[in-house]
Amino acid sequence: MGLDDDAREYHRREPPGKIAIETTKPTNTQRDLSLAYSPGVAAPCRDIAAEPESVFEYTAKGNLVAVVSNGSAVLGLGDIGASASKPVMEGKGVLFKRFADIDVFDIELDIEEVDPFCEAVKAMEPTFGGVNLEDIKAPECFKIEERLREEMDVPVFHDDQHGTAIISGAALMNATEISGKDLSEIDIVFSGAGASAIASARFYVSLGAKKENITMCDSSGIITEERVENGGVNEYKSQFASDVEGGDLADAMEDADVFVGLSVGGIVSQEMVRSMASDPIIFAMANPDPEITYEDAKDARDDTVIMATGRSDYPNMVNNVLGFPFLFRGALDVRATEINEEMKRAAAEALAELARKDVPDAVVKAYGDDPLQFGADYVIPKPLDPRVLFEVAPSVAKAAMDSESARTEIDLEQYRERLEA
Ligand code: NAP
Ligand code: MG
Repeated sequence: MGLDDDAREYHRREPPGKIAIETTKPTNTQRDLSLAYSPGVAAPCRDIAAEPESVFEYTAKGNLVAVVSNGSAVLGLGDIGASASKPVMEGKGVLFKRFADIDVFDIELDIEEVDPFCEAVKAMEPTFGGVNLEDIKAPECFKIEERLREEMDVPVFHDDQHGTAIISGAALMNATEISGKDLSEIDIVFSGAGASAIASARFYVSLGAKKENITMCDSSGIITEERVENGGVNEYKSQFASDVEGGDLADAMEDADVFVGLSVGGIVSQEMVRSMASDPIIFAMANPDPEITYEDAKDARDDTVIMATGRSDYPNMVNNVLGFPFLFRGALDVRATEINEEMKRAAAEALAELARKDVPDAVVKAYGDDPLQFGADYVIPKPLDPRVLFEVAPSVAKAAMDSESARTEIDLEQYRERLEA
């Protein structure tokens, strides 16, 4: 059987789907039941009404994340609608649980418009310790996240934007170090100006790249000030408009230090790679087929090409699972009110730092015995490396406390030990 049929069988197998609810307290006696439900349950209810923050002590809120989508930009499948997105959202829940022991309710909303979508999510705030927005199309995704971040008191995080930004940002920090380039000086070309590209460009600036050194291309070529003036370029793309004559991706890539592909497969040629500056960095992250293959990029030139893709069958896989479980773990454990820039930067720095350390044998074995050592073919940790949890989550928790976004202070040493146990 092929992968598709295997996947159908996997999902259909009884019970259908991938998740279920479990209870966490005894329910064996009449007494247990009168504690779990009425009349006993009234006591914690009264306490929460009197002291709202005690909801974190009495309920599952503090470990519960809403994965919310309207199905408008699902994987590479496009706008397939809320119901068809449910297997993906359940899957996201599986990853939250598997990697960070976080519980998820997947919420598929049959709402396309920004305002009613925001109202629905906001109304669910009492239930959740955090909200992971997922697979919502650009530019609506930017508006939705901006508004919910402003109006809600729990972390709201659109993973398609920031997950990619954080992981590729970590890879970029290490890649520039290896190739002896300075983040504040490099010329970066983006292919793609959608959810992930805009967020990544913003994040690289937050890491030290210069906005004026970024050239962004969409399906019509370089985003120029002239195109902005002529209308038809949304407000998010216009923030990265370049003051140049115009041109296509090939023009933009000439002499660039870094190529960031978040667009479509197969649109970069070896010739375009040869036109880049020395020791170029190429993150070709379109899925499932990158903008240029690993082999073609590497073979295009004799100097060092640092290459990353979204694929698991090549080195340097940029995979969001390196981010969201651990970001939310750290955020939830200090009852954070948001996931802010400092917390995202802390996550990226922790990932970059971890890639510089020796890799345990068990992790090397899980990936087939090729040595994993900091260098061109290993700039980011592997998703199955258990150290990612106890490196990233405490860094995020610390950043939340330092930036006054934490509702509670924790002892970081003890926290780390608890995660390692
Ligand atoms: P999106 O919001 O739909 O954006 C896609 C962008 O690609 C749009 O700006 C589009 O231009 C542009 N585009 C389409 N054809 C193009 C072409 N021929 N040349 C230049 N740009 C072109 O999608 P997204 O969520 O950002 O994802 C984009 C891609 O990155 C997908 O393949 C996705 O799978 C991949 N991705 C990978 C990772 C990862 O590896 N971890 C993470 C996130 C996304 P217009 O604006 O003109 O339509
Ligand atoms: Mg997604």
